[in-house]
Amino acid sequence: MKQFSFAFAITFCAALPIVKAQNTSAKDTAPSKTVSVAQGEVARWAGNCQRCSFEKRAWAAVNGTCYYPVDMDMKAGTYTISRRTTGGKLESAKLTVTEKACKQEDIANFPKKEYVNVSAQNLARAAKEAAVVNPIISYKAEVRPAVFDLPVGKPADPLPRGEGNFGACRTFDGQPRDRHTGQDYPVTGGKPVLSVGNGRVVLAANQFFSGNVVFIDHGNGLVTEYFHLKNFTVKPNQTVTKGQKIGVVGETGRVTGPHLHFGVRWHGACINPGFLLIDPSDMPEVK
Ligand SMILES: [Zn+2]
Repeated sequence: MKQFSFAFAITFCAALPIVKAQNTSAKDTAPSKTVSVAQGEVARWAGNCQRCSFEKRAWAAVNGTCYYPVDMDMKAGTYTISRRTTGGKLESAKLTVTEKACKQEDIANFPKKEYVNVSAQNLARAAKEAAVVNPIISYKAEVRPAVFDLPVGKPADPLPRGEGNFGACRTFDGQPRDRHTGQDYPVTGGKPVLSVGNGRVVLAANQFFSGNVVFIDHGNGLVTEYFHLKNFTVKPNQTVTKGQKIGVVGETGRVTGPHLHFGVRWHGACINPGFLLIDPSDMPEVK
């Protein structure tokens, strides 16, 4: 049934220009509903949703609401989204992605020089680690059903205000590096790190750049990431519950001091984790 809905949604999007050409009135086919979302944010379409699609990707609704996560690097512009209602009706809307300027962070005199001038050996190690992580965080057509609820729990309690560095464009001693994929929280070293929702551990490992990491799959294509831990207390394939301790805040990997790096990938999109911590009714909504 899921397969059928997915195929139908794709066909619908692909067929749209042809239908439009045959019809005399553009009003019949042009979506009248719209939503505007900045890069790295999430839009929602509430009420009686069953299946959702966004460009060539599709997924199930969560508790009757369609969520459309927009990757921080998604090109600004207008896209078509659609939803199939529980009553079988197919509707589409226009989703406009607006540009979000990346905060520039220039980190000078980085103390751990092995992370600035990376050796060939460590580069090879990091490439191997990326090959393990990439399939975990990429979009998949078939995923387990959602086991989380929104808003998600806090990754530490209490959770201090974030550093506001999600998506930051960074240089280390003048050398440009990849954008920052999560949000850093100034949590004291040694404090417990908590799973933000029910889920299953997909990776718990030591990595060159990210240090000790835990990745948790919460179903519906939602994966959360916790980096630079002093240690982790969970194993791959282990089931975890919302609020469960998964490790301890540390300063492993490319960091200047202890803090918690929390990241979110949803249907392959890298999004601002803060969007899962707010009341979902505060997200930009299709209207
Ligand atoms: Zn970070």
